[in-house]
Order: sequence, then C-alpha cells, then structure tokens
Amino acid sequence: MKKIIAANWKMNKNSQEAAQTVQELSAILNNTLPEKREVIIFPSFISLEASIHAAPENTVLQFGAQDVYPAKDGAYTGEVSPSMILDAGASWVLTGHSERRHIIKEDNAFVGQKTSFALASGLNVVACVGETLEEREAGRLYDVLSEQLNQTLAKLPTPLSPERLVVAYEPVWAIGTGKTAGSEDIIEAHAIIRELLKDIIGTSVFQTRILYGGSVKPENAAEILKLENVDGLLVGGASLKADSFAKIICA
Ligand code: PEP
Repeated sequence: MKKIIAANWKMNKNSQEAAQTVQELSAILNNTLPEKREVIIFPSFISLEASIHAAPENTVLQFGAQDVYPAKDGAYTGEVSPSMILDAGASWVLTGHSERRHIIKEDNAFVGQKTSFALASGLNVVACVGETLEEREAGRLYDVLSEQLNQTLAKLPTPLSPERLVVAYEPVWAIGTGKTAGSEDIIEAHAIIRELLKDIIGTSVFQTRILYGGSVKPENAAEILKLENVDGLLVGGASLKADSFAKIICA
C-alpha cells in the first residue's frame, strides 16, 4: 500500500505562486519520487486549475479541493460542487478539517453529508478528525474520535473501493502550532481510529489509509512515517515550499 503525502495549502498562494510551486516540486520529484508514495496537493479553489495546468503531462501529482458543498448545483452562494471540482481536473477533497470545524463551525453531521455526497459524486475523500487539547485533557480522545468518525462516515456509498477514502488524524493542538504529537500519542490515536473503522466499514479497513497531520516537518517526517498504522502525512505549513515538501515526500 502506497503512503500518501498530502499538502494542504490552506488560504495561501495566488494562482501564479501555486503554479510555480507545482513546477518546482515536479522538477525535484521528476526522478526521485519513491515508488511507495502518492502525492496529493490541495490548493485553494481559485488556484486549483492553475496548479493542475502547471503540472507536467505525466505528473505523479494528484490534486484536490479543500472543501466541497454537498449538493449537485443550485442556490448556494459562494459554494462549490463536486462536479465543479472534478471539472477543474481534481480528484480529491478534504472534509472535516479542524479549521473548518472550529472557525467556520461545521458540525459532524455536515461533515458527514459532505463526505458521502463527495464520494457518491466520484471524488476521493480525505476526511479529517482530531481532538482539541481540552478534549484530550478531559480524557475524551476515544469519544471524540468515535463521534467524528461515526457521523462523518455514516452514509458511505456502497460499494466503495478502499483507496477512495482516507482518514487523517490531526490533533487540533498540533496544527500550525509547531507542537507535533508524540509517537505514543500518534500510535494510540491511529489504533483507536483503525478499531473504530473496523465497525464502520468492515473488512476492508486494513486497506484504508490513515494519515497523521500536525506540524510535520522534514526533520520529523521519517520518524512519524515509521509508526504503526501511519499510512501517510497531511502537511500544512511545511508543504508551502517545494524543497521542504519534497524532503517530506522522500523521507
Ligand atoms: C493542516 O492544516 O492540515 C496541518 C497539518 O497544518 P500544519 O502542518 O501547519 O500543522
């Protein structure tokens, strides 16, 4: 199973900057992409097409949107549908990122609607879960992950090939803070997620990739990638520069 290394560019880079980073990354990865890696870039909506067009013809890069609205079309001002994302040439979408949960106030039910609609519409999904520091300190890690996963994955389309759904564990207290979760924290949370997924999606659970995200850097990527049940990384800040992201991909 290939490990996924994904870049979440958040609200950074205009089209020109995004295209330039894709070109730089492509030039570095040209002959050096390890066989056991898949790479996904999540630019902003506005720079998605420019990013895709900047990639060489036989690119190893895959692309995705950072959000999606769970409807085919209609009166949803400011929103973007799965078919628009597919039409732009992207094949992935992020759902449930903690910044959308906490800043935009998306709840588990809405994240679940987005996840199932996106999958049913043909997009592959990286569904994000993770606890706040307050929840962790209150001993609620298992309950929070259980609530998030059960609602996010409540109505998965069937059949669903396992490579189309990826789960990202991103402890909120480690995102953009410079604080990486310790190895034991990551192992514990990923084991809980694997166990919960067993009940939700059944036997194909061992083919479902679980990514870790939260202050991943070139210096800690290799160590995290070796941990049990870590099937890849979701990277924010350290994915903005091609050379730093390439080091993480090749870690
Ligand atoms: C993220 O936003 O998904 C993320 C993991 O950010 P950072 O790597 O900057 O902590």
